[in-house]
Amino acid sequence: MIDIERIRADFPILQKKIHGKPLVYLDNAATTQKPSMVLDKIQDFYAESYSNIHRGVHYLSEEASAAYEGARETVRNFIHAGSAREIVFTRGTTEAINLVADSFGRAFVDEGDEILLSEMEHHSNIVPWQMLCERQGARLKVVPIDDEGALVTDELKTIISERTKLISMTYVSNVLGTVNDVEQIIELAHSQDVPVLIDGAQAVQHFPVDVQDLDCDFFVFSGHKMYAETGIGVLYGKEKWLEDMPPYQGGGGMIRRVGFDRTTYAGLPYKFEAGTGNIGAALSLSAAMEYLNEIGLENVSAYEQGLINDAALRIEDLHGVTVYGKNAGRCSVISFNLDSVHSYDVGAVLDKLGIAVRTGKLCAEPVMEHFGVTGMVRASFALYNTQEETDRLVQGILRVQSMMMGR
Ligand code: PMP
Repeated sequence: MIDIERIRADFPILQKKIHGKPLVYLDNAATTQKPSMVLDKIQDFYAESYSNIHRGVHYLSEEASAAYEGARETVRNFIHAGSAREIVFTRGTTEAINLVADSFGRAFVDEGDEILLSEMEHHSNIVPWQMLCERQGARLKVVPIDDEGALVTDELKTIISERTKLISMTYVSNVLGTVNDVEQIIELAHSQDVPVLIDGAQAVQHFPVDVQDLDCDFFVFSGHKMYAETGIGVLYGKEKWLEDMPPYQGGGGMIRRVGFDRTTYAGLPYKFEAGTGNIGAALSLSAAMEYLNEIGLENVSAYEQGLINDAALRIEDLHGVTVYGKNAGRCSVISFNLDSVHSYDVGAVLDKLGIAVRTGKLCAEPVMEHFGVTGMVRASFALYNTQEETDRLVQGILRVQSMMMGR
């Protein structure tokens, strides 16, 4: 069970008033707010233990290194990876995907090969693959979605071929809230010896993820969408792949020995961590994971599911509102448009009412094209949202309609 009053008290920003109204923060798919436990961790680190890592024998460096490696272990445990060697810290989901596209691409993708994506991907899971395809003369193939926002899995079966080198797909759509049946996709891909990357940017903060159970080859996500700081993310990769992939960037920390004749590289995961990483943000990520572990992700999931199901039913029920995607099984996100009102105008009026939503193309232009719209309004829920906030959103939508359309 979730003690919502206690949870809300953990997030100082939720006390804020915007334009004189209590803040209703429903832009969680873009980024989440931070609990005191995370803020305190950052403050403590810089006040008490700050130093660079893995470089000095002095006290603070050893303390910071131990904390950083402790954070890696917390991440390993959080997604239940088999080894901390399989956990690479990155700047976020985007950098993690670019890392795989670059490094896996150089090692395994040749002219004429194919990378499979879905039509519901975020731009960060499209553009890096496009760049790879341009470099290597490979091709992108796209599994379509239907009008309910579900992946047409049967198409996947026909599109996959002996030239398919990788499938890269989101777990949860950042526009439609669709939860893809990634187990089925991974099983199908593996039956044809094709590895799978799962974009977990909209998943890890909402329900438990076990990368060994999923048996995915790569799994990526961002700290800032799960109550931690920006500038930190994770690439999980099966050791067998990471071992065979070349480094992504060169620099300090990723080498074993450097000579002008030849350089040898560090072991996993350091081979992929060139330069000084975002140490404080990694600690904030582990604090956020501890926070979620304390509440229990099953509890988070049940609570949020109740919120989003209720919100979806109520928004769908409104006259003159189009909701995109299907309600059943929707995770955290609901995107919609009001008849004859531009999404930006909806967002601007809601803002004046203290309600933060995202508007526009939502970094997913192909989804906009699919539904024939130039933008959408997106409300996305987190564990600190409440039904009263859904009431405020619904009232806000009615207010927009009466202002813009004279209803
Ligand atoms: N994938 C998905 C599904 C996302 O929702 C996002 C962020 N909106 C990203 C990737 C990119 O994440 P980041 O900007 O943190 O790298």
